[in-house]
Amino acid sequence: MTDRPSHPCGIVPPYLLAALTGHRDEAVAECARRSLERDRSLRSHRSATAPRTSSTTDHPVEHQGGIRAPHADDGTGPQRTIADAHGTQTTPGTTVRTEGQPATGDPAADEAYDGFGHTWSLFDQVYGRDSLDGRGLPLLGSVHYGTGYDNAFWDGTQMVFGDGDGTVFNRFTIALDVIGHELTHGVTEHTAALQYSGQSGALNESLSDVFGSLVKQRTLGQSAADADWLIGAGLFNAQVKGVALRSMKAPGTAYDDPQLGKDPQPARMADYVQTTDDNGGVHLNSGIPNHAFYLAATAIGGNAWEGAGQVWFDVLTGGRLPATADFAAFARLTVAAAESQYAVGSPQAGAIQAAWERVGVLAAGQVAGNAPGGGVGGGVGSAGDAPAGSSAPTATQVQVRRTGGLAGLRRARTVALDDLPDEDAQGWRSLLADDRLRELAASPPDRAVPDAFTYHVACPPDGEEITLPEHGIPEPVRDLFQRTLGD
Ligand SMILES: [Zn+2]
Repeated sequence: MTDRPSHPCGIVPPYLLAALTGHRDEAVAECARRSLERDRSLRSHRSATAPRTSSTTDHPVEHQGGIRAPHADDGTGPQRTIADAHGTQTTPGTTVRTEGQPATGDPAADEAYDGFGHTWSLFDQVYGRDSLDGRGLPLLGSVHYGTGYDNAFWDGTQMVFGDGDGTVFNRFTIALDVIGHELTHGVTEHTAALQYSGQSGALNESLSDVFGSLVKQRTLGQSAADADWLIGAGLFNAQVKGVALRSMKAPGTAYDDPQLGKDPQPARMADYVQTTDDNGGVHLNSGIPNHAFYLAATAIGGNAWEGAGQVWFDVLTGGRLPATADFAAFARLTVAAAESQYAVGSPQAGAIQAAWERVGVLAAGQVAGNAPGGGVGGGVGSAGDAPAGSSAPTATQVQVRRTGGLAGLRRARTVALDDLPDEDAQGWRSLLADDRLRELAASPPDRAVPDAFTYHVACPPDGEEITLPEHGIPEPVRDLFQRTLGD
C-alpha cells in the first residue's frame, strides 16, 4: 500500500492525518494511519540519505565535549535487539533488527535502535557502566505495542513502546529522552532499586528524567546552558497546547491544554502532592528533584552529564542509597558525593546544596551527614486522588480511572452499563458478578513496572475502589477497561 504512487489522502497535511487516525470511520482512520506512516518513512529515508552528523554505531563521531558515540568494532558496544509486536500486547514480537544490521525503514524500530545506542553510550563512555547491569546486558525493545497505545514502559526485561493514538500522542520512540528515561529504569532496578511509590518512587522517576535528558543533551552536544530541559518534546501532536510531558527547568509549565488540563508537576516541597493515584504521584512529585538537578547543573555549568550528572550517577550506583530513600536522604548523599569528588566547600558541592535548599528539600545551612532523619518529609499540597465522580457509582454504573503512565496523565469515566456496547456491558456484568476484580487485587504481581498504568475501578453496589496495576490484569479485561475509557 505504501508503494502506491498516488495515495488517496496524500494531500492532507500531517497534523490533520494525525487527527483523522482516531476518526469514527475506520476506513478514514486507516487511510490516515497509512499516510502518516508513508510520510514518516519518506522523511526517514531523506534523513538517512542526508550527511550524517551523529551516528550511534559504525561511525564514531566526536561530539562537543570530545565524547565518542559507541562503536561496534571494539567489542564493547551495545547488544541491541528490536522486535515488532505488530499491534498486539504480546512481547517481544518478531525480531526486526539486531546489532549491526542496517536500518529497517520503520521509524519506530530505527529510533528505538538508535536511542538504545545513545543511552548505552552515555552510561558506558561517561560513567564506565557497560549497559544497565554494568555487565553488558543486551538491550531488548518492542515497538508497535498495542493499538494506538499511549505509553512506553520498562517491564524489567525490555523496553516497550506504543504507537500513540495519533491525536494527542505521536509514537513513543520519537523522543530520545523518553528512550533514555525507560532504560534508566533498568539501571535503577540493577542498583538502588528505589521502591516505586511515594518519595522513593518519585526519585526513581526523577533519575529516569535526569539521565534521559542527559542522553539527549550529550547526543545533541548541548551544555547545561543550551539544553531545553524538557522531557518528551515532540511526543505531543501539533494540536496539543504544550511543548513536552514535563519541564525540569520550570515544572508545571510543560502543557496547558483544554483536553489534557494543565501540567500538574510541583517544583517545591511546599507543593508536594499527596495522592493515591500513580503509586503516590511518582510522575508528579518527581518535579521537585528534577528541578533541583536543573538548578545544580546550570549553576555548575558546562556539560550537565559531567558535573551534576556524575554526582547523581555516583549516588544512584554507589550502594549507599536505600531503596526507600526520601528526597532529603538522596539530597544529603548528593552533597556528600560532591564533597568527596571535588572538595568540602567546593563550588560544586555548594551549588548542589543550594539547589536542594531552593526546592525546599534541605533546610538552609543543613549539611551532609548532619541532618535530622527523614528530612522535610512528605509535605502537604493538594490532594489529587479524588475519584472521577463525586459519588459512588449506582448499581448500574461503573467508574474507571487510569493513572500513571510515563506521562502521568489521568483519565476517568463513569458510565451506565446500558450506555456501553452490549458486549462490553456483558463483560462488566460477568466481571462484577464473580468478584474477579477483588481476586485480582488480592494477588498483585510481585514487582512494580515503572511507567505502567494503574487502573482504579469503583464497583457497585458500595463503590469500593479497587486498584490494579496494568500488568497484573488479563488482556481481555485490560481491553475492556481501555474501551470503557474511550481509548
Ligand atoms: Zn518512568
